[in-house]
Amino acid sequence: AKLRESRIERTKTVCTYCGVGCSFDIWTKGRKILKVEPQMDAPANQVSTCIKGKFGWSFVNSPERIVEPLIRKGDSFVPASWDEALEYVANRLKGIKDKYGPNSIGYISSSKCTNEENYLMQKFARAVMETNNIDNCSRYCQSPATYALRATMGLGGDTGSIEDIKIADLMMVVGANPAESHPVLSTRIRRAHKKNGQKLIVADLRKNDLAHRANIWLHPNPGTDLVWLSAVTKYIIEQGWHDAAFVEQNVDGFEAYKGSLEPFTLDYAVEVTGLPREQLIETAEMIHNAKRMCIAWAMGVTQHIAGSDTSTAICNLLLVTGNVARPGTGAYPLRGHNNVQGAGDMGCAPDVYPGYESASDPAVLAKYEAAWGTKLPTTKGLDNHQMVEAIHDGNLKAMYIMGEEMALVDSNANHVQSAFEKLEFFVVQDIFFSKTAEFADVILPASPSLEKEGTFTNTERRVQRLYEVLEPLGDSKPDWQILTELAKHMGVDWNYTHPSDIMDEVASLAELLAGVSYERLEGYKSLQWPVAKDGTDTPLLYTDGFPFDNGRAKLITLEYTKPIEFDAEYDLHINNGRMLEHFHEGNLTYRVDGIKEKVPTTYVEVSPELAKERGVETGSVVRLISPYGQIRVSAVVTDRVVGKELYIPMNTPKDEEAINYLTSSYHDEHTHTPAYKECSVRMEVVCAE
Ligand code: SF4
Repeated sequence: AKLRESRIERTKTVCTYCGVGCSFDIWTKGRKILKVEPQMDAPANQVSTCIKGKFGWSFVNSPERIVEPLIRKGDSFVPASWDEALEYVANRLKGIKDKYGPNSIGYISSSKCTNEENYLMQKFARAVMETNNIDNCSRYCQSPATYALRATMGLGGDTGSIEDIKIADLMMVVGANPAESHPVLSTRIRRAHKKNGQKLIVADLRKNDLAHRANIWLHPNPGTDLVWLSAVTKYIIEQGWHDAAFVEQNVDGFEAYKGSLEPFTLDYAVEVTGLPREQLIETAEMIHNAKRMCIAWAMGVTQHIAGSDTSTAICNLLLVTGNVARPGTGAYPLRGHNNVQGAGDMGCAPDVYPGYESASDPAVLAKYEAAWGTKLPTTKGLDNHQMVEAIHDGNLKAMYIMGEEMALVDSNANHVQSAFEKLEFFVVQDIFFSKTAEFADVILPASPSLEKEGTFTNTERRVQRLYEVLEPLGDSKPDWQILTELAKHMGVDWNYTHPSDIMDEVASLAELLAGVSYERLEGYKSLQWPVAKDGTDTPLLYTDGFPFDNGRAKLITLEYTKPIEFDAEYDLHINNGRMLEHFHEGNLTYRVDGIKEKVPTTYVEVSPELAKERGVETGSVVRLISPYGQIRVSAVVTDRVVGKELYIPMNTPKDEEAINYLTSSYHDEHTHTPAYKECSVRMEVVCAE
């Protein structure tokens, strides 16, 4: 893939930002990035990219990169050789394991890392350290969607391909803002709406870009999506508009589900959601009139105490209307990070091995014990929410975090950071000195995606290869090499010489990825799982039935759980999400000059009516106070938000402005995904403009 053109090199990579999984050539001269050139044969994006994919790469040359291992000595960090640092980490981990047992250590993998690196992190936790305490950041965003899809349809991924969205007659987007979070996918939706006459329904608290263009913008009360989704489904069934033949042939549980919808009358939905009755009926009619409907959703759905149930309500609606297993239909949970799908696929969760094979299934354990040549843990592992609580309870003594800014990204940041302060030993493996790294005992310098080979899996289950564009900076190393060398210091020789060795091992063990190989992924080739041994992949799921014993999908009955109620003094609901220019907590894009200049800081959006009432103008500095913490931030007055709704981007160049100083530890009961979107504050004006 590396085509030499005099001293200019051109190398294929896959974007390190969102889950759309755009791929393109990067032109470099030395370490200088000359340009990003998308290619027609890029499967997810062809010639498109967004601002981050096009211009968001100079962070790789930032002088703030960590380029040598660092070991804490008192209040400061001292540079160390790799041997010294890894020997120290190995000895400390061994010591803690011997003293407190293997389950006293927790491991967090990264959706910014490759599939191969994620696979090794869970292998390190399970095979070397003998614990199932392994998790990744999909716990913070998409676990509820995965939970719902696995429960109703069987597989935890988008049911179709991005390419197919354009042939839907109706696109419904619930609790997602693709124009800023998944820009290239949003372009596809916009084009289909404008040019093909695709109908568009958007449900969101904020009048985002797609909501502006939509045929219907649903603006329900916060935390009530399950109610309107269920009411619309009930109305469809009552009118006889459901796909009775599809349900009869393919779906279990219809009668029980229909009965469970009894409370979700239109009157009840109007009362709870605040949506007009006519809008609910219009939504049902639009669904009825569409031959093919896709529903995309994201963290506006999942990050609630009932995030899994609301995701399940979406799956139920798709099944009842027969909008599955045909091109232009289906479920599209929009994965946030570039490889959040892959981190889950690789078994970086306490309850599953790669390919979502159960960690409590003796046959799965026997398979991995034979392959890895060691006894594997049978104790139930902790997810990242449980790890934080276990530290506070004195049961978790050490953590190893690879490539995650958990100190700011987990909810209730003060609670998380006070847990980190209690750890006896803490390893952080990252490319920058993050907020999380401030609490570390050892910092291991990793390489970003441009400095490594491997694969990422995008939101449509598409596995793609990335090639090394630049050599690792300084003494930094790709995460797979760090883990391989650390295992050696623990006395285990994994013997990998290239990430392709790791993928071969994954393919030999995980049925879902049985036919994946680097040869089959050469250049711009890609595969969508499940991939059979002969290399046949699956762009569209469930065409041969659903992967349950009887081959039938399941409708699941649901009850409505009210969102968290805050004391009356916290009178403003605050929502949060992504912005186009920056990504996630901002550690990468706030180190990209062009982007940082364009959007130098974060802000809170205030509605014109609230601004007038409280004496706030654009540029005013306000203090936002929740029961869990407070932040100071500038206000922007905009009609994107309405009434007492506030909105703040999740990314910030200043740690102290992070939204998660305000959010709570409440979480979805099924997955422990934090209820980031259920947060209320009071607002004080610190300094009027
Ligand atoms: Fe594509 Fe997402 Fe990267 Fe933008 S951030 S280039 S949409 S993968």
